[in-house]
Amino acid sequence: MPLPAYVILKPEKEASIERRHPWVFSGAIQSRHGRPKTGDRVAVRTATGRWMGWGHYTKDQSIAVRLLEFEVDEPSLGFWDGRLEQAIALRKRLGLFHGEATNSCRLVHGEGDGLPGLIVDWYAGVAVMQLHTLGMLAERTAIVDALVAALGTELTAIYDKSANVLARHHNVNHADGTLYGALPDQVLAKEHGCAFEVDVVHGQKTGFFLDQRDNRAWVGAFSRGKRVLNVFSYTGGFSISALAGGAEVVHSLDSSARALEVGDRNVALNFNDANHRSIEADALDYLKSHSADYDVVVLDPPAFAKGAHSKDAAVHAYRRLNAMTLKGMPSDSLLFTFSCSQAVDESLFQRTVLGAAVQAGRSVQVLKRLHQPADHPVAGGHPEGFYLKGLLLRVL
Ligand code: SAH
Repeated sequence: MPLPAYVILKPEKEASIERRHPWVFSGAIQSRHGRPKTGDRVAVRTATGRWMGWGHYTKDQSIAVRLLEFEVDEPSLGFWDGRLEQAIALRKRLGLFHGEATNSCRLVHGEGDGLPGLIVDWYAGVAVMQLHTLGMLAERTAIVDALVAALGTELTAIYDKSANVLARHHNVNHADGTLYGALPDQVLAKEHGCAFEVDVVHGQKTGFFLDQRDNRAWVGAFSRGKRVLNVFSYTGGFSISALAGGAEVVHSLDSSARALEVGDRNVALNFNDANHRSIEADALDYLKSHSADYDVVVLDPPAFAKGAHSKDAAVHAYRRLNAMTLKGMPSDSLLFTFSCSQAVDESLFQRTVLGAAVQAGRSVQVLKRLHQPADHPVAGGHPEGFYLKGLLLRVL
């Protein structure tokens, strides 16, 4: 029996779904049946009567349906248990779930794990979830039950950290809070053998940026004996790697005093007398006059493009930031530069950064292309999922 609400696609609009793209745009919909409201489950049918899948409906936004299953007209039995077990099995296989060196990872990465709208991060027993759609919010109890069943005794707490995203995307009032167990006084995550305090309740996103794990290791590998500047440092992820890699001195720069305080505590957690300083400043202001003082610079800004509409402005901002930094850097220095804006794809980012080098009058070599790690998978039908890209440049 199909779901009570469904949409019918315009003729021949099923091609992208056949390629397993999980988004149905409102422009592809011919008609709506059963009066679906934002947050409802809907089935999706072709003009010729074939069921293409079911998903979560959003009214008045360009993505009208986010598909959770293909080729069926209602959720299959054990859907949530199955999807979550599959997601957790991947992280266990990657050695990120309860490893000696790393015990924290992204457990559910939205579309990449066949669950558009759901993010779950795992910090050594504490699961922090972000529900990005009202559809996922409506499924919250099922998600919690399935997480509890799949995570078993390794689970300490489930914390819902959706208030900010739900207010931003859907204009709804929602309270963050603990849904299972109790949050420990201090949430400690381990990455590459280093400890991090994770500010689950007050921090940005779910409290820590797990997506830079692999790239932090590269920064560590190039830091021995170097003067390292970590710009947009947040709670010091790259700074700790640089110190662990034997940097001579590390400076962490951020505009958030609160993030820098956590970063200072993270340095103290891992090292007795590290040569580290936190600088509360605006990135461009500082870089203008100080990029000449460092052998290694990391630029990991927040997403400059929040959507396709702000792509041009974002490209301009990346060019300016990178040109300003490259201009002063000493010869034979290294720049790790990143973008987490989905709307700016890898080739556009690369052209922008290499263009910035020309603008700054510097010759550079590309030593490496950098990406998100394997616990942030990309579904085959959803190339938009490649969101984090970076370059390691040597400045000649
Ligand atoms: N590199 C970090 C994550 C960076 S998140 C990690 O590995 O954990 C982006 C950071 O940029 C946030 O901490 C935010 O406070 C900071 N930020 C945003 N705008 C800024 C600006 N103009 N100058 C300095 N920091 C800024």
